[in-house]
Amino acid sequence: MKEAYLYKKLEDKKVRCHLCNHRCIITEGQRGLCGVRENHSGTLVSLVYGKVIAAHCDPIEKKPLFHFLPGTRSYSVATVGCNFKCLFCQNSDISQMPSDHNRIMGDDMTPDQIVKDALDSRAVTISYTYTEPTIYFELAADTARMAVSKGLKNVFVSNGYMTEQCLEEIFPDLHAANVDLKAFSQRFYREQCGAKLEPVLNTLKTMKKMGVWLEVTTLLIPGLNDSVEELRDLARFLSDLDPNIPWHISRFHPTYHLTGISSTSSDSIRRAREIGYEAGLTYVYSGNIPGDEGEKTFCHECGELLIDRFGFNVVQNMITEGRCPGCSSEIPGVWTY
Ligand code: SF4
Repeated sequence: MKEAYLYKKLEDKKVRCHLCNHRCIITEGQRGLCGVRENHSGTLVSLVYGKVIAAHCDPIEKKPLFHFLPGTRSYSVATVGCNFKCLFCQNSDISQMPSDHNRIMGDDMTPDQIVKDALDSRAVTISYTYTEPTIYFELAADTARMAVSKGLKNVFVSNGYMTEQCLEEIFPDLHAANVDLKAFSQRFYREQCGAKLEPVLNTLKTMKKMGVWLEVTTLLIPGLNDSVEELRDLARFLSDLDPNIPWHISRFHPTYHLTGISSTSSDSIRRAREIGYEAGLTYVYSGNIPGDEGEKTFCHECGELLIDRFGFNVVQNMITEGRCPGCSSEIPGVWTY
C-alpha cells in the first residue's frame, strides 16, 4: 500500500481525491468510485501500488497508436480498477473486479521490475493500459519516471478523465496517448459510462497543448453513438483541435452488460470513416476488422501507401525520415526514437 498522490485532507478525517474528475470525497474506511483508493484514518492510500494484474509485450499498434514508433514493442501493464462503469467494457473482468467482486488481485511488481522487464523484452515504450492508468497513477508515475531515466518512452491508453493537475504531474514523462472519445453526447457518458463528456474534451485539448502525441479511439456501438449528426460533431471537434489527430473507429462486439446489441457492421465503420474525412481529418482508421483497407496508412497528400498493416502487424513501413516517399510530404507522427 502506498499513500496516494494528489489528494487533500478535509475535516473529520475525510479526504478529497484530485486524480480524476469525479473528485471523490471519501470518508474514513471508505473507497473512491474506482474501488482502489481507500481512506485509512484520514490518509488516502492506493490499494493497487505494485499489484500488476496484466503485463504483456504488445505491438504499439494494439494500443492503438499508428503514428507513433510503428512496428515497435510496448511493454503493457495494468492493475485492477477503473473510474468508469462502461456497460460495454471489453476488459470488465479486471477493470470492474473491485466493484463487481470486491476483490483486488495482482502480482507484486515494483516500478524497477516493470522497467527491467520492458528492457529485457526489447520494448521501447511502456504502456499503461487495459484498465485506466489514472486510478493506478502512483505506480504509473513512478514507473514512467524510472523508464525515462533508462531511455524508454511512456504511453497512456486512457478514458481521458484525469484532472489537469494529474496531467501536469505526468506530462514530463508522457510521450504519447490514445484517449477514448466514447461518444459526443452527455447522455451517453452519463448512462453508459457513469461519467461526463466535458472533462474528456478538456483532456484532449490539454494534451494537444502540452505536445503529447495524441490519437483518439471511438468504439462504434450500433444505435448508441453512431448517428451521422453525432459522428459529424465528434469529427469536427477533433478536426478543429488538429486535423492530423489519427482517429480510430473500432468495431463493437457484444460483451459485459451490453449483450443485446449486435456487432458493428463493416459498412457502418466505413461510413463513420467517410464522415471523419469529410470533417477534415487526414487519418481515419478502422479497428477490430483485421485485413480491412482502413488499417493501412496512406499519404494525406498524394494517396501513396505508407504503412501496410494486417491486424496489429506492420507488413511494411515505407515512411522515410518522417516523409512520404512519393511526394515528400511530412507525415504527422513520431517515427524515430
Ligand atoms: S481516482 Fe478514484 S478515488 Fe480518485 S477521484 Fe477518481 S474515482 Fe474517485
